[in-house]
Amino acid sequence: MALRLYNTLTRSVEPFVPRDSGKATMYTCGPTVYARAHIGNFRTFLVSDLLRRYLAYAGYDVKWVMNLTDIDDTTIKGANAEGVSLRDYTDRYIASFHEDRRTLGITDADLYPRATDHIPEMVKMVEDLITAKHAYVVDGSAYFKIESFPNYGKLARLNMEELRVGERVASDEYEKEDVRDFALWKAWDAVDGPVAWDTGLGKGRPGWHLECSAMSLKYLGKGFDIHLGGVDLIFPHHQNEIAQTEGVTHEPLARYWVHSEHLLVDGQKMSKSLGNFYTVSDMVNMGWKAREIRYGLLAGHYRQRTNFQASGLESIRQALARFEACSVNLEHAEGQGGRAELQDRIAQREQEFRDGFDDDLNYPEALAAVFNFVRDANTLCQERKIGGSERDLAMEAMKRFDSVLGFLDLSGEAVDPEAAEIEALIEARNAARKAKDWTEADRARDALTERGIVIEDRAGKTVWRRK
Ligand code: AMP
Ligand code: ZN
Repeated sequence: MALRLYNTLTRSVEPFVPRDSGKATMYTCGPTVYARAHIGNFRTFLVSDLLRRYLAYAGYDVKWVMNLTDIDDTTIKGANAEGVSLRDYTDRYIASFHEDRRTLGITDADLYPRATDHIPEMVKMVEDLITAKHAYVVDGSAYFKIESFPNYGKLARLNMEELRVGERVASDEYEKEDVRDFALWKAWDAVDGPVAWDTGLGKGRPGWHLECSAMSLKYLGKGFDIHLGGVDLIFPHHQNEIAQTEGVTHEPLARYWVHSEHLLVDGQKMSKSLGNFYTVSDMVNMGWKAREIRYGLLAGHYRQRTNFQASGLESIRQALARFEACSVNLEHAEGQGGRAELQDRIAQREQEFRDGFDDDLNYPEALAAVFNFVRDANTLCQERKIGGSERDLAMEAMKRFDSVLGFLDLSGEAVDPEAAEIEALIEARNAARKAKDWTEADRARDALTERGIVIEDRAGKTVWRRK
């Protein structure tokens, strides 16, 4: 069997046939850098990472682009509220995004383009859309005319006849019931403050949807292979990306659209707006190790919602302990005569592993194959059938599995990069309180608040977390 993927465009599982034989091109909608990304966002990025790793394992030469959304309503609002430049404001969250993704073992994409570095490409796309009569300008803003694009609604399965199609919508996010001509370029408005670009389209800024169309076309070209993101991006974001890009290229934007389901907390989507989220550093502070977070977030099939439960840590530890025990068994193995049997087991389990991933990235099935291999290896050790040179064969097989799973090689430890400074401030505060130096204690506490750290005194111990 070869790789098959569920394509949201056709709502069916299809064989993966890349645009260029032997090569695979992927584009993932990256984080909006207005705050530290939460583990729900990271589940989606981990699914991209898993696919990237599996494609590489399967022998493809992979090119992966993940954009950084540094221009949208939320980044502009955040920068202006703090009175700092958009660049300075978003740099901070780009740095924390990279820190967290490295903690989780998310491999480097080939490129992380930022919207602010691609204004000319976006302006050109809007100009081309205007020439092609897919777009028009009103009061300095450009809008995509959805009735000019007969395929509008195909990805999101909208029934355009039943929907109330309104006039125009300026905001980046809106509901299906509100399908309207959407903004490609927004004329400068007082709420944008200093954030604006002077271009052939006038003074203003791009709409969010346009950013991904321009950057994916620039770096991956027409009709690239796989476009990924969370299910909430199907409408309007991806639907609008298709209209924009295809309005210019007259070719399908991407061959496969892969959407991952949400991480839930108590049955609700983990999200900033609901306030029910955890960041990677929250998890670390709750005692989770990097590999445990990765293992927990990838659990389940990517098209099924998963519920986040802090209480799940115990069973994750038990599962990971089975791998550790197997490594110890192999290390001490001093038997012989089981080489052929071991080779046989490896071949069988690796086939099961591939069959799992080939089946629309069925991670639970692939993982089960690896657990079966752990059991096989343990049995052969117990039967004293393997020793020195077989150990290397078994470890190499494990490495191949882990080149896709990515948690065995991951450090067991994960530390918040600012932990030492934060703990020093907490110590200073506690020492000042002991000495009844309230001014100093307040100063230390304010310094913590400024960094977004919340502290609580529990049973004589001060615990901290990020807001
Ligand atoms: P954003 O930073 O909001 O643009 O989101 C980045 C990515 O995270 C998008 O692909 C979203 O679909 C995805 N996402 C947002 N919330 C969740 C969640 N609770 N579970 C999984 N993915 C999510
Ligand atoms: Zn996007």
